Formats: sequence, C-alpha cells, structure tokens
Amino acid sequence: MSQTDTSVATDAAIAYLREHDTEHLAQLDEFLRIESISADPGRIDEVRRAGQWIVDELTRLGIERATLHETSAHPIVTGEWMKAGDDAPTVLIYCHYDVQPADPLDEWIRPPFEPRHENDRVYARGSGDDKGQLFMHLKAVEAWMATANRLPVNLRFFFEGDEEVGSEPVEAFIEEHADLLRADVCVVSDGDTFDDDGTPAIGYGLRGIAYWEVRVHGPRQDVHSGQYGGGVDNPANVLVRMLASLTAADGRVTVPGFYDRVRDLTDEAHAAYAALPFDEGAWADETGVPGPMEGERGHSLLERLSARPTFDINGIWGGYTGDGAKTIIPAWAAAKISTRLVPDQDYREIETSMQAHLASIAPPTVRVEVRVIHGGAPAITPLDHPGIGPASRALEAGFGKPPLFQRSGGSVPVVAALDAHLGLKTLMIGFANPTGNFHAPNEWMSLRNIRDGVVSLVHLWAELGAMRASDLRAGEPAPRR
Ligand SMILES: [Zn+2]
Repeated sequence: MSQTDTSVATDAAIAYLREHDTEHLAQLDEFLRIESISADPGRIDEVRRAGQWIVDELTRLGIERATLHETSAHPIVTGEWMKAGDDAPTVLIYCHYDVQPADPLDEWIRPPFEPRHENDRVYARGSGDDKGQLFMHLKAVEAWMATANRLPVNLRFFFEGDEEVGSEPVEAFIEEHADLLRADVCVVSDGDTFDDDGTPAIGYGLRGIAYWEVRVHGPRQDVHSGQYGGGVDNPANVLVRMLASLTAADGRVTVPGFYDRVRDLTDEAHAAYAALPFDEGAWADETGVPGPMEGERGHSLLERLSARPTFDINGIWGGYTGDGAKTIIPAWAAAKISTRLVPDQDYREIETSMQAHLASIAPPTVRVEVRVIHGGAPAITPLDHPGIGPASRALEAGFGKPPLFQRSGGSVPVVAALDAHLGLKTLMIGFANPTGNFHAPNEWMSLRNIRDGVVSLVHLWAELGAMRASDLRAGEPAPRR
C-alpha cells in the first residue's frame, strides 16, 4: 500500500473502533468473567475456557491456524496471519490469559469476576494484568480486518495460561514450536504506561536472576553456649560473616568475576535514564525507607534499580527464635540469597562462581552446602533497534504524547527465552495503569488507556508494515523513511 492508502486505511480502522466502542467493552466484560486463575486447581476448566475463547475470537477475525496447544500445564494459544507479503515484517505478539487469585475476596467492592464500569475505568480481576491488554490486541486486529480485510504486517500470536504461576511450559514450547513463533520482532503487552496521565512507555530491558539456598552446618546438634561457646564455631555467626562479605559498602558484589560480563551503559542509555521524571524523595516515602542506599558511584538511583546487578539476602533463619532467651549454639543456619543480573551476565556462570566462592571462604570449622534454586537470563533490546522508531510514532499517535523508555528491574522469563532460542528482540509495550492494583483487590484499567492503546496498535501495524522484514531484524540499520 502507498503511504496515502495506509493512512486512509488507518483512519478507517480507527473510525471502526469508535463506532463499536460499546459493543467491544461488553465483549471485554464477557472475557473478564471467565475465572482463569492459573494457580487454582479447581479452575483448570476455566483457564482452558479462556484459551478456547481466544481461539474462537482469532478464528472469527480471520486469523489462521488458531490453536489451543496442550502443555505440561495450562494450554498455550497460537495463530497467525501471514498474507502481508514475503517482504513484510512478521511480529510475534505475546500476552497471557491467566490471572492471579482474587483473595482477599471481601476487599473487592464488587466480585472480581463481575466487571463494573465506573469513573472511566473497568474494574475486574485481569482487567489490566493481562486479559485487558490481550483483548486490545484482538480489537486492533479486528479493526484492520473489518475495514481493510487485511493486516499491514504478518502477525503471529503467542498467548499463555501459566504466566502467574511461573511460565513453566513456555521454554519447552518455544523449543518445540519455533516454526509457529518465528518473527522479526516481538511485542509483549503485559506492563503499564509510564504514569496514570496517559504517558506511554516502551520497556527495553529486564534483569535476570540467580537464586540459591545456603546452609552452614556446625555441631551434630544444638549445644549449650556456656559449655561450648569459644570452642565450637557458631554456624549462624559464620553464615552472617560469609554473607556480609559478599557485598562492599557501596553494594558492589565481591564474588570474583561477577562484573566481567556486565555491559556498561552507553551515553544514549544514560540519557534515556536522565530523561525519566523521577522523584527520589517520593520514592523513599512510598517505599518507607529513610533514604536510598548509597549504591555504586557513577550510577543514578534509577539506573541502579534496573541496569545494575544486585545481591540480596531474601531470608535467613536458624537457631532459637522463640520467646525469651535460650542459650544455644545452633547446629545449623541457612539463608535464601539471590542476585539480579544484567546483560551480558550468564546466570549459569554466576551460579557456579557463587558456589565456588562460598566454598572458598568457608572456614574449616563448618560444612557449607549451596544449592541452586532457579535462574533466568537478562534481556535487552538496544535503543537503536529499528522497531523503536515505529513503536514511538505509533504510541504518540495513540496517546498524544511520545513514550518514555524504561528498563525494568524484574524478570520476564518468556522474553529471555525468545531471545535465547529464536534470537527475537522484544519491545515491551504495556497499557495497564501503574496504580491499577495488579495482583491486588479492585484491579482496574482505565478506558482511556484501552482506547488510546488499541489506536496505538492500529498505527503500530501500519508503521511496521511500511518497513521491510530485513530492515526490522536486530542489528540492522534503522530504515530511512
Ligand atoms: Zn501479567
């Protein structure tokens, strides 16, 4: 299509959305009424029903090979529309259709699976995380198919039902069904806009993780500290000494080689961080701490929260913790510890080097056991990725404001897995509201974000459709328009 044709078609798709707004919101309610709580064994059929609902919708919209795949846990939905031409880019869309449990139920003003519309918001479990966002993708597709009878790009869909319980079947699925998922770029909508005033955001990085349990063993059983103190090395004392030595005063991790693969921020990345409005005082107030920790020199607080690795003790226990005093030297003490990792740290390497380091610093008076609990890779999409420009223009067209660029301090396993197995870079384009009570009672999403977000997606497919597939692949120069 020529540029004029595309803009006429885009306008028609947006007009279609306006005309069908009431009908679409009623249909969203229908989807939200399905109780797809992945953690609840009593709702296995409800999770499946939500997956099947999506398959039926995709089929109705003209999406081909819409399929509900069996997995080791809940089903995965895929589908595709690949008729935009051999040269046209292919985009993989990822969202999840499972939701968090609704407890505590008595804190909901209306039951979680009876959507209510109030104050220009829809309240229901899953309205923001993530069924509302998944539904928005369906409506953007519908708007194109209903008005142009085609899509400007090739689209593939990848919707899972296990995200809230750890995405267990996803990695194996990516390995086994690469042919259904291959694309030039991935768009993940499972996050939020920058603020509640409709400032959109593009997420381009996630931290990885490595997690261990450490156990220090001393005497055969708890012994009297009056009788044995001074002779028996106390496992709890040893454990805290060892763990304390893992970070320096500025928070830097002391495990040898830990920083070897850490990619330094580019000037462009520093500038993207500096452009984010951030109030350290408000952050400290909200967090309840007297102030932020000192942290590494040369990195702002925001950078340290998402672009630098960290070490944390997540829990520590052992010995006597009841009322009053009990004078013992405990037989053992234990801790759960973890590190957040950044590109290009390899969590397997870090797991091994942590185990080796703890063994090397353990005194001969105790026995130390270190067990790996789980790990995940970090991910990053370079800010000069050719998909960033089109995504920015699309979000600005939908929300009336350009997006801000942010990295998240957390981890999303599917993003790292798509990169590792398919070399697929992800743009995280979330539409939920930052204060929308994710995972909490009275979850909500603003109707404005729904409407502006669907319009953005209509534009996004037009923007990406104006590119060639080869121009969109990571590592290639941005297109000249
Ligand atoms: Zn989610």
